[in-house]
Amino acid sequence: MNIDLFDNIENVKSKIENASKRVGRDSKEVLLLAVTKTVDTDIINEAISMGIVAVGENKPQELTRKFDEIGPIVKWHQIGTLQTNKVKYIIEKVDLIHSLDRFVLAEEIEKRASAIDREVECLVQVNISGEESKHGLPKEEAIDFIRSCSEKYHRIKIVGLMTMAPFDASEAGIRDVFSELKKLSEDISVLNFENVEMRELSMGMSNDFEIAIEEGATIVRVGSMIFGDRKY
Ligand SMILES: *Cc1c(COP(=O)(O)O)cnc(C)c1O
Repeated sequence: MNIDLFDNIENVKSKIENASKRVGRDSKEVLLLAVTKTVDTDIINEAISMGIVAVGENKPQELTRKFDEIGPIVKWHQIGTLQTNKVKYIIEKVDLIHSLDRFVLAEEIEKRASAIDREVECLVQVNISGEESKHGLPKEEAIDFIRSCSEKYHRIKIVGLMTMAPFDASEAGIRDVFSELKKLSEDISVLNFENVEMRELSMGMSNDFEIAIEEGATIVRVGSMIFGDRKY
C-alpha cells in the first residue's frame, strides 16, 4: 500500500472533520473531490481503494482517457475552463461540470445532452474576486445568466455555484470571497428558478479548503495535499 497517499487522504479527511465541527456542520455534507490532473491512473485507483468517491479533472481529453481506464466506479467531475469543442468528449462521462460560465457553452452542453437524451448537472462558475486571470461570470451577471439558462435549457440542471479564491489573498480576503458566493447562492435560491437548485457550493482547494468549509462549501477540490505537488 502507498502509505503516503493513505496518510494524505486521512489527513485531509480529518481537517474536513475539524473544520466542519468548528462551525457545527456535519462533515458528511462536504464532498472531498480529489483533483487528479496529471496523476496516473494506477495512483487514482489506489486513492479510490482508500475511499475516494469523486475525482476532478480539468482537461477533457485527460478525463476521457482516465474514465475509459477506470470507469464509473467513481464520480467524474469536470473542473476548470471548458472549451465548447471539448464538451462532446465528456458529456457521457461526467457527473458534474463545475465551470458553466457562458451561453455558448450552455448551448453546446444542451445540444450534446439532448443528443444522448440525458440531463447534465452543472455548477455556474462565478468570479467573485474580480481577478482578471480568473474565469467565471462576474457576480453581477450570475443571476441573469442562471435565469436565462433555466428558461432556455432543459437538459442543463444547475445545482449550485463554484468559485476560486485569489492565490495571493489574505485569509480574510479568501473568507470574504467564499462568504459572498454563499450569499449569492442564497439570493438565487429564493428566486425559485425552474430546474435550478442551489444545493452545492464548490469552493476551496488545498490551501484554503478549511476556510471554505467554515463558509459553507459542500464540495472541496483538493489536489496537491493528496497527491503531492504537481510537476508541470
Ligand atoms: C488544480 C485545481 C484544484 C486543486 O488545486 P490544489 O491546490 O492542488 O489542491 C482545484 N480546482 C481547480 C479548478 C483546479 O484546476
